[in-house]
Amino acid sequence: MKASVAHQNLLIDLQKIDTTILSCGVRLANLPELEQIKAIHKRLEDASVELKVVETELEDVSIDLRRSEVDVEAVVDRMKKDEARLNAGTASPKELEQTQHELATLAKRKAELEDSELEIMMRFDSVKKRLDELASDEVGLQQLELELNVRLENGKSEIANELATATSARAVLVPQIDSALYDLYEKVRASAHGVGAALLIGNKCDGCHLVINAIEIERIKGLDSEEILRCEECRRILVRI
Ligand SMILES: [Zn+2]
Repeated sequence: MKASVAHQNLLIDLQKIDTTILSCGVRLANLPELEQIKAIHKRLEDASVELKVVETELEDVSIDLRRSEVDVEAVVDRMKKDEARLNAGTASPKELEQTQHELATLAKRKAELEDSELEIMMRFDSVKKRLDELASDEVGLQQLELELNVRLENGKSEIANELATATSARAVLVPQIDSALYDLYEKVRASAHGVGAALLIGNKCDGCHLVINAIEIERIKGLDSEEILRCEECRRILVRI
Protein backbone atom coordinates (compact mmCIF):
# COMPACT_ATOMS: atom_id res chain seq x y z
CA MET A 1 0.00 0.00 0.00
CA LYS A 2 1.14 3.52 -0.75
CA ALA A 3 0.21 6.89 0.74
CA SER A 4 1.81 10.31 0.64
CA VAL A 5 4.28 11.20 3.37
CA ALA A 6 1.89 13.96 4.49
CA HIS A 7 -0.90 11.43 4.98
CA GLN A 8 1.45 9.10 6.84
CA ASN A 9 2.40 11.97 9.15
CA LEU A 10 -1.29 12.71 9.77
CA LEU A 11 -1.55 9.15 11.11
CA ILE A 12 0.91 10.05 13.87
CA ASP A 13 -1.20 13.12 14.73
CA LEU A 14 -4.28 10.87 14.81
CA GLN A 15 -2.45 8.38 16.98
CA LYS A 16 -1.64 11.13 19.52
CA ILE A 17 -5.32 12.06 19.66
CA ASP A 18 -6.41 8.42 20.01
CA THR A 19 -3.85 7.87 22.78
CA THR A 20 -5.30 10.89 24.60
CA ILE A 21 -8.85 9.54 24.17
CA LEU A 22 -7.74 6.14 25.48
CA SER A 23 -5.97 7.68 28.46
CA CYS A 24 -9.08 9.76 29.28
CA GLY A 25 -11.07 6.54 29.64
CA VAL A 26 -8.41 4.94 31.83
CA ARG A 27 -8.10 8.03 34.01
CA LEU A 28 -11.88 8.31 34.33
CA ALA A 29 -12.12 4.75 35.61
CA ASN A 30 -9.19 5.24 37.99
CA LEU A 31 -9.85 8.59 39.61
CA PRO A 32 -8.39 8.23 43.14
CA GLU A 33 -11.55 9.74 44.64
CA LEU A 34 -13.55 6.67 43.54
CA GLU A 35 -11.56 4.41 45.86
CA GLN A 36 -11.46 7.04 48.61
CA ILE A 37 -15.26 7.46 48.52
CA LYS A 38 -15.69 3.69 48.62
CA ALA A 39 -13.46 3.57 51.71
CA ILE A 40 -15.47 6.38 53.34
CA HIS A 41 -18.71 4.49 52.69
CA LYS A 42 -17.25 1.41 54.37
CA ARG A 43 -16.19 3.49 57.38
CA LEU A 44 -19.62 5.14 57.56
CA GLU A 45 -21.29 1.73 57.49
CA ASP A 46 -19.03 0.44 60.27
CA ALA A 47 -19.63 3.59 62.31
CA SER A 48 -23.38 3.28 61.87
CA VAL A 49 -23.32 -0.34 63.09
CA GLU A 50 -21.23 0.61 66.13
CA LEU A 51 -23.43 3.65 66.76
CA LYS A 52 -26.51 1.41 67.01
CA VAL A 53 -24.72 -0.95 69.41
CA VAL A 54 -23.58 1.92 71.62
CA GLU A 55 -27.02 3.57 71.54
CA THR A 56 -28.58 0.33 72.77
CA GLU A 57 -25.88 0.09 75.44
CA LEU A 58 -26.66 3.63 76.57
CA GLU A 59 -30.37 2.80 76.83
CA ASP A 60 -29.54 -0.27 78.93
CA VAL A 61 -27.26 1.72 81.23
CA SER A 62 -29.92 4.45 81.54
CA ILE A 63 -32.45 1.83 82.66
CA ASP A 64 -29.91 0.44 85.20
CA LEU A 65 -29.31 3.96 86.46
CA ARG A 66 -33.01 4.73 86.95
CA ARG A 67 -33.54 1.37 88.64
CA SER A 68 -30.63 2.06 90.97
CA GLU A 69 -31.99 5.54 91.82
CA VAL A 70 -35.38 4.03 92.64
CA ASP A 71 -33.70 1.43 94.89
CA VAL A 72 -31.78 4.14 96.76
CA GLU A 73 -34.93 6.24 97.15
CA ALA A 74 -36.84 3.26 98.56
CA VAL A 75 -34.14 2.66 101.16
CA VAL A 76 -34.01 6.36 102.05
CA ASP A 77 -37.84 6.40 102.48
CA ARG A 78 -37.70 3.45 104.81
CA MET A 79 -34.89 5.05 106.79
CA LYS A 80 -36.92 8.25 107.12
CA LYS A 81 -39.91 6.28 108.40
CA ASP A 82 -37.72 4.42 110.91
CA GLU A 83 -36.12 7.67 112.09
CA ALA A 84 -39.56 9.26 112.47
CA ARG A 85 -40.69 6.28 114.55
CA LEU A 86 -37.59 6.63 116.74
CA ASN A 87 -38.09 10.37 117.14
CA ALA A 88 -41.77 9.94 118.00
CA GLY A 89 -40.67 8.16 121.21
CA THR A 90 -43.79 5.97 121.27
CA ALA A 91 -42.08 2.67 120.53
CA SER A 92 -41.45 -0.02 123.12
CA PRO A 93 -37.77 -0.76 124.02
CA LYS A 94 -37.96 -3.96 121.94
CA GLU A 95 -39.36 -2.07 118.96
CA LEU A 96 -36.67 0.59 119.43
CA GLU A 97 -33.95 -2.02 119.32
CA GLN A 98 -35.49 -3.61 116.19
CA THR A 99 -35.78 -0.23 114.48
CA GLN A 100 -32.20 0.70 115.30
CA HIS A 101 -31.02 -2.64 113.98
CA GLU A 102 -33.05 -2.15 110.80
CA LEU A 103 -31.64 1.39 110.39
CA ALA A 104 -28.09 0.04 110.60
CA THR A 105 -28.90 -2.61 107.98
CA LEU A 106 -30.57 0.01 105.78
CA ALA A 107 -27.59 2.34 106.07
CA LYS A 108 -25.30 -0.48 104.94
CA ARG A 109 -27.65 -1.33 102.06
CA LYS A 110 -27.82 2.36 101.10
CA ALA A 111 -24.01 2.60 100.97
CA GLU A 112 -23.85 -0.52 98.77
CA LEU A 113 -26.54 0.82 96.44
CA GLU A 114 -24.79 4.18 96.20
CA ASP A 115 -21.50 2.47 95.32
CA SER A 116 -23.23 0.50 92.61
CA GLU A 117 -25.02 3.65 91.39
CA LEU A 118 -21.67 5.41 91.14
CA GLU A 119 -20.32 2.56 89.02
CA ILE A 120 -23.36 2.74 86.75
CA MET A 121 -22.93 6.51 86.43
CA MET A 122 -19.30 6.03 85.42
CA ARG A 123 -20.35 3.43 82.87
CA PHE A 124 -23.03 5.81 81.60
CA ASP A 125 -20.45 8.60 81.18
CA SER A 126 -18.05 6.38 79.30
CA VAL A 127 -20.76 5.01 76.97
CA LYS A 128 -22.05 8.55 76.42
CA LYS A 129 -18.52 9.70 75.59
CA ARG A 130 -18.10 6.90 73.03
CA LEU A 131 -21.48 7.80 71.53
CA ASP A 132 -20.46 11.45 71.17
CA GLU A 133 -17.15 10.41 69.57
CA LEU A 134 -18.95 8.18 67.07
CA ALA A 135 -21.48 10.88 66.24
CA SER A 136 -18.68 13.39 65.67
CA ASP A 137 -16.72 10.84 63.55
CA GLU A 138 -19.83 10.36 61.45
CA VAL A 139 -20.17 14.09 60.85
CA GLY A 140 -16.45 14.29 59.93
CA LEU A 141 -16.76 11.38 57.49
CA GLN A 142 -19.86 12.87 55.89
CA GLN A 143 -18.02 16.16 55.45
CA LEU A 144 -15.07 14.34 53.89
CA GLU A 145 -17.43 12.47 51.56
CA LEU A 146 -18.91 15.77 50.38
CA GLU A 147 -15.44 17.19 49.69
CA LEU A 148 -14.39 14.04 47.84
CA ASN A 149 -17.54 14.15 45.73
CA VAL A 150 -16.75 17.72 44.71
CA ARG A 151 -13.20 16.68 43.79
CA LEU A 152 -14.52 13.67 41.89
CA GLU A 153 -16.92 15.82 39.86
CA ASN A 154 -14.14 18.33 39.12
CA GLY A 155 -11.82 15.52 38.01
CA LYS A 156 -14.56 14.02 35.83
CA SER A 157 -15.42 17.30 34.13
CA GLU A 158 -11.72 18.07 33.52
CA ILE A 159 -11.34 14.72 31.73
CA ALA A 160 -14.66 15.17 29.93
CA ASN A 161 -13.41 18.52 28.55
CA GLU A 162 -10.16 16.94 27.41
CA LEU A 163 -12.13 14.11 25.79
CA ALA A 164 -14.46 16.53 24.00
CA THR A 165 -11.49 18.52 22.65
CA ALA A 166 -9.75 15.35 21.46
CA THR A 167 -12.93 13.96 19.91
CA SER A 168 -13.62 17.10 17.90
CA ALA A 169 -9.96 17.30 16.79
CA ARG A 170 -10.28 13.69 15.61
CA ALA A 171 -13.44 14.48 13.67
CA VAL A 172 -11.59 17.25 11.85
CA LEU A 173 -8.49 15.15 11.18
CA VAL A 174 -9.96 11.85 9.96
CA PRO A 175 -11.49 13.19 6.69
CA GLN A 176 -8.04 14.57 5.76
CA ILE A 177 -6.45 11.11 5.80
CA ASP A 178 -6.47 8.73 2.82
CA SER A 179 -9.38 6.41 3.55
CA ALA A 180 -7.55 3.13 2.78
CA LEU A 181 -4.70 4.21 5.04
CA TYR A 182 -7.19 5.18 7.75
CA ASP A 183 -8.97 1.82 7.47
CA LEU A 184 -5.65 0.00 7.84
CA TYR A 185 -4.79 2.16 10.86
CA GLU A 186 -8.14 1.36 12.51
CA LYS A 187 -7.73 -2.35 11.83
CA VAL A 188 -4.23 -2.41 13.36
CA ARG A 189 -5.24 -0.18 16.26
CA ALA A 190 -8.09 -2.53 17.20
CA SER A 191 -5.68 -5.44 17.52
CA ALA A 192 -2.66 -3.62 18.99
CA HIS A 193 -3.82 -2.13 22.30
CA GLY A 194 -5.05 1.11 20.76
CA VAL A 195 -1.81 1.94 18.92
CA GLY A 196 -2.16 1.67 15.12
CA ALA A 197 0.77 3.79 14.00
CA ALA A 198 4.21 4.41 15.47
CA LEU A 199 7.30 6.35 14.49
CA LEU A 200 10.38 4.62 13.19
CA ILE A 201 13.10 6.20 15.32
CA GLY A 202 16.56 5.18 14.12
CA ASN A 203 16.25 1.43 13.91
CA LYS A 204 13.57 1.16 16.59
CA CYS A 205 9.79 0.86 16.36
CA ASP A 206 8.28 3.38 18.78
CA GLY A 207 5.21 1.15 19.11
CA CYS A 208 6.78 -2.01 20.52
CA HIS A 209 10.21 -0.44 21.22
CA LEU A 210 11.98 -3.34 19.56
CA VAL A 211 15.02 -2.97 17.33
CA ILE A 212 14.43 -3.74 13.69
CA ASN A 213 17.09 -6.01 12.22
CA ALA A 214 19.76 -4.57 9.90
CA ILE A 215 18.53 -6.44 6.82
CA GLU A 216 14.99 -5.04 7.23
CA ILE A 217 16.37 -1.55 7.83
CA GLU A 218 18.38 -1.83 4.59
CA ARG A 219 15.25 -3.00 2.76
CA ILE A 220 13.26 -0.04 4.17
CA LYS A 221 15.93 2.39 3.03
CA GLY A 222 15.56 1.11 -0.51
CA LEU A 223 11.79 1.60 -0.52
CA ASP A 224 9.86 4.54 -1.87
CA SER A 225 8.98 7.01 0.89
CA GLU A 226 5.27 6.58 0.01
CA GLU A 227 5.43 2.85 0.62
CA ILE A 228 3.57 2.01 3.85
CA LEU A 229 5.82 0.25 6.35
CA ARG A 230 4.75 -2.27 8.98
CA CYS A 231 6.76 -3.29 12.01
CA GLU A 232 7.74 -6.95 11.66
CA GLU A 233 7.26 -7.48 15.41
CA CYS A 234 4.03 -5.66 16.31
CA ARG A 235 2.56 -5.17 12.80
CA ARG A 236 1.92 -1.50 13.50
CA ILE A 237 2.19 1.04 10.68
CA LEU A 238 5.66 2.57 10.87
CA VAL A 239 6.03 6.21 9.94
CA ARG A 240 9.49 7.46 9.06
CA ILE A 241 10.59 10.59 10.89
ZN1 LIG B 1 6.74 -2.61 16.55
